[in-house]
Amino acid sequence: DVRVRFCPSPTGNPHVGLVRSALYNWAFARHFGGTFVFRIEDTDAERDTEESYEALLATLRWLGLDWDEGPEVGGDHGPYRQSERREIYADVATQLREAGRAYRCYCTTAELEERREAARAAGKPSGYDGHCRDLSEEQIAAYEAEGRESVLRMRTPDETVTFTDLIRGEISVDQYNLFDYVLVRANGHPLYTLVNPVDDALMGITHVLRGEDLLSSTPRQIVLHEALRELGIASGPMPRFGHLPLVTAEGGKKLSKRDPQSSLQMYLDRGFLREGLLNYLALLGWSIGEDQEVFSIEEMAEAFDITRVNSNAARFDLKKAEAINGIWVRRLDPNDLAERMVQHLQEAGLLAHPPTPESVELLRAATPLVQERMGVLDECVGMLGFLFVEDDAFTLDEADAAKVLKPDAKPVLEAAVGALEPLQEWTTESIEEALRVALVDGLELKPRLAFGPVRVAVTGRRVSPPLFESLELLGREKTLARLQRALP
Ligand code: GLU
Repeated sequence: DVRVRFCPSPTGNPHVGLVRSALYNWAFARHFGGTFVFRIEDTDAERDTEESYEALLATLRWLGLDWDEGPEVGGDHGPYRQSERREIYADVATQLREAGRAYRCYCTTAELEERREAARAAGKPSGYDGHCRDLSEEQIAAYEAEGRESVLRMRTPDETVTFTDLIRGEISVDQYNLFDYVLVRANGHPLYTLVNPVDDALMGITHVLRGEDLLSSTPRQIVLHEALRELGIASGPMPRFGHLPLVTAEGGKKLSKRDPQSSLQMYLDRGFLREGLLNYLALLGWSIGEDQEVFSIEEMAEAFDITRVNSNAARFDLKKAEAINGIWVRRLDPNDLAERMVQHLQEAGLLAHPPTPESVELLRAATPLVQERMGVLDECVGMLGFLFVEDDAFTLDEADAAKVLKPDAKPVLEAAVGALEPLQEWTTESIEEALRVALVDGLELKPRLAFGPVRVAVTGRRVSPPLFESLELLGREKTLARLQRALP
C-alpha cells in the first residue's frame, strides 16, 4: 500500500515549492490508489504560527489536493500535528538512548567551536568529533555535578550509507558527512532530525518525495529508521526516497521563499485559476508527454511516474505560467468567467459591491472580447476598464496618446465623429462600415493609421479588445464624447 506524506512547517506563507511537493505527492498517491497523508511539522514554537497553519489548509483545499489522513480529516496514525506528539518523541528518544543508539553529549558551544576551529586548521573534517560517544559513568557523573546541560546525539555507524533515489539513481553518501547529529536539544526540544523520520516510520510512509534541498538529511534519516526497526518501533520497510528538482528563479538562482513569484498569494491575487496554476506547477520537473503541456491533475495522477521526473533544476517562468493559465481561462464557460472577473473589477474600483444588473450585463457581453486574450483574470482591469470607468475618471494612457494622438490625428477623429453621429443603427457591423468608408476610403488611410487614433481616444490604449465591438458596447454617447475630448 502506497503511503506518502506532505509535511510542511507552518512558518510564513505557502509558496510555490511547497505546493509543487504537495501536488507530486498527491498525484503519486492517487496514481496507485494509495494514501496521501498531510502532517504538520510544528515543533518550532518560535517560528510556527496558527495563521500559517490555516493558510496551508486553505491552500490545499482551494487547490483541490484532498488528503486522506491529517488535520480535520483524522486517520489511524494521528495526531497529525507534531506539536501534539511530544510524548511520542520523548519516548522514542529514551528508547534510543537506553539501547545505546543515541547518547547524551555535554559539550558546550564554546568547546565545540574551539575543536571545530582546530580541526579546520588541521585540514580535518569539522563535524562533531564524537567526544561524548563513550563517556564513562564517572565522567557523566562529573558533568552532571558541574550542572552541564546535555543534548541527545545519534550514534551514527561508521560504514557508508547508500540508497537509490527514485529520481536521481544511486546516491553516494560519502559527500554528506554522517557525523553524530543532535536529535533533542538541551531543553528537551526534539528536532526535525528526530521527529520527521520517526513520524514517517510510525505513519507507515512508503515513499518520501520532497525537495532536493533535503537530500543531505536523507542518509541520517535512513540510519535512524534502521535503528527504529531494530528497536521494534518501526515495523514497515524503509521508505523509498525521491528528491524533486530545485526550482530556480528566472536568473538561475534558487527560487527563494521571499521571491514575490514564490508567494502563492500573488497567484491568487492575480486571478490564476486553480487548474492553470496546478498545471504549471506540475510542469516544474515533469511532463505528461513530449508535446502535451496542458493537462488536468486527474490526468496527471493517471500518468504520473516519479522515475520520469527530471533531475535537472526547473526554471520558473512567469510568462509561461500565464500562458498555461490562459488556456484554462479559454475553457471556462463565458458566464463563469464573467463572474470571476467581477472581484477584480471591484478591487480596481470599476464595479460596485454588489455590481448593478446593467454592469453585470455589460460585463457578460464584453467577456467574449477578452476571453481569447487573457492569461490571468486581473488583466480584465486593463482590458475592460474603459467600459466601466466613470466618464470623468476616464484617462488616456499618456505614452500611447503621445504616440498616436498627434496633430495629424485631428482630421481622423473629426471624420470618425462625422461618420458615427448620424448612424441609424449602433451595431458592430454598422460602426465598422461607417468608419471604413469615412477613414479608409474617405481619407485614404491604411487601417492601422485610420483606427489607431479612434482606439486610443475611446479605450485609452493602443492595445484593446476588438475595436468595433468595443465601441458598440461602450455606446454612441460615450464614444462620441471621448472622440471629441481627444481632439488634439
Ligand atoms: N517540515 C519539513 C519542511 O517543511 C519537511 C521536509 C520533508 O519533507 O521531509 O521542510
